[in-house]
Amino acid sequence: MSPGDGVEDPRLEQLVDGIVRLAAGELNARIEPSDQRDAIDAVITGVNLLGEELGHIYTDLEERVAARTAMLRRTQVELEHMAKTDALTGLANRTLLNERIQDAIRSGTDSGHAPAVLILDLDSFKAINDTLGHSAGDAVLVEVSRRLRSVVRASDTVARLGGDEFAALITGASVDDVMLIAHRAWEALQESVDIGTETVWTTGSIGICLHDPGRSAEDLMRGADIAMYQAKAEGRNTVQLFHPDMLNAVQERSRITAELRMAAATGQLALHYQPVVELASGKVAGVEALVRWHHPVRGTIMPDSFIGIAEETGLILELGRWVLHEGIAQLSQWKHLAPQLTDFRLHINLSAAELLRSDLLADVNETLTKNDIEPSRLVLEITESVLMSRRTGEQQVLEKLRALGVGLQIDDFGTGYSSISYLREIPAETVKVDHSLIKNLETDPQQQKFVSAILQLISAAELEAIVEGIETAEQAARLQAMGCLYGQGYYYGRPAPAAAILDRISGSEPQR
Ligand code: C2E
Ligand code: CA
Ligand code: CA
Repeated sequence: MSPGDGVEDPRLEQLVDGIVRLAAGELNARIEPSDQRDAIDAVITGVNLLGEELGHIYTDLEERVAARTAMLRRTQVELEHMAKTDALTGLANRTLLNERIQDAIRSGTDSGHAPAVLILDLDSFKAINDTLGHSAGDAVLVEVSRRLRSVVRASDTVARLGGDEFAALITGASVDDVMLIAHRAWEALQESVDIGTETVWTTGSIGICLHDPGRSAEDLMRGADIAMYQAKAEGRNTVQLFHPDMLNAVQERSRITAELRMAAATGQLALHYQPVVELASGKVAGVEALVRWHHPVRGTIMPDSFIGIAEETGLILELGRWVLHEGIAQLSQWKHLAPQLTDFRLHINLSAAELLRSDLLADVNETLTKNDIEPSRLVLEITESVLMSRRTGEQQVLEKLRALGVGLQIDDFGTGYSSISYLREIPAETVKVDHSLIKNLETDPQQQKFVSAILQLISAAELEAIVEGIETAEQAARLQAMGCLYGQGYYYGRPAPAAAILDRISGSEPQR
């Protein structure tokens, strides 16, 4: 083409078309160069090169975007994984377990077998945590999760629900197989766990619930939970299969809870008192206050049937407050009726939660002052297990109570997880040896040696021993021969209302 001949060069149209296609994103569009090798051809080649370069840049961008997207996706998967697994054990968490249960219910009984949920709660984990520390506790949890995984199939889900509570979803297994797996899990826990130089034993209570048509994932979890609580109630370390009757037991508990809430306010609680006797003289040295619940319909309910519920629900704080006020008021009455009893002491049982009640010290102090009772006349009985696991808060309360002049006593000694060293560390002065230790005292020489050793141990720690549960003259005589100074038990007197106690304590009735 020469300038001014008026005929348009067709290559110009191709050029414009090519540029438009490139601009539209068709990066592989190329314009055919001619053989004229003139300025237009130069522009065509330039545009083609530009197209090529654009293509490279575009491919490069696409690759980078793809890499970034893959990275984001991986992070998302990781985050999802983290949100659905337990960091310590790597097991599924509650969320993931719940999803899997829902899936299992939805895909239904393809295998002909309903899905089952198993919930396991360790029985004595708190004691391990408190005595050996949290890293030891963690090591136990990791080991337990490993053992649980080893007893289920790969297709089953094992989860940690939190704390020392685990769960497993078992699919496609018959009822017999589910029970077998549960028992294997139970068995796997019986073996000891080695942590550094320490060896600990754990046991677990297991509840199982099988899926029934119409039951939701939530129902299934709740059923397993109820069965697990039943296992605990049956003395722990057992396996229980959910049965609808168990729901009644749960309702019964909530009924008791509701009624117990009212009991103190409506005057249904009463204290009975059991003498603590000086073995040599038979003199009553004090009494232990034991709470009774006079229920308008059910009659008298013993503490073993409601103290546990009161502790679980927190009602124990109110109950304990009532026992403290009532007991000290009674002591004040006795003091006026029998002024000769100068060192007569009142023992009151204190639950773990009460030690952490913020107003405990003030309450004890005020109640004693109001009733004009010297602090040394009050002995607080605190169970061995509480004292073993005492944390700084509890230790401080114990020391402050001690500083107040109140007596502290280790209760139920010999039933729990005993360690000798703690005997010297807590600010107690007396130790009550549990009645289970003297059961076969008359007939079993081995037991005699054992009790004798325990009494020596207590005396070596410069503490005074009281043995509880003395039922026969022979037990009393043997204990006295072993050097035990104080005793308590049906042989000396059953717990009785305050009125019946006065005759005994004022010495008008002959003592054994
Ligand atoms: P515990 O502190 O070990 O109290 C001793 C229990 O042994 C009492 O049972 C008593 O009646 C019973 N006992 C006394 N002598 C004998 C005997 O010779 N043989 C036998 N087999 N048993 C004897 P109780 O009154 O049923 O109290 C049971 C538990 O309830 C108490 O055990 C204590 O842990 C708790 N408890 C009772 N009252 C209170 C309270 O006011 N507050 C708290 N926190 N717990 C309480
Ligand atoms: Ca007691
Ligand atoms: Ca006891």
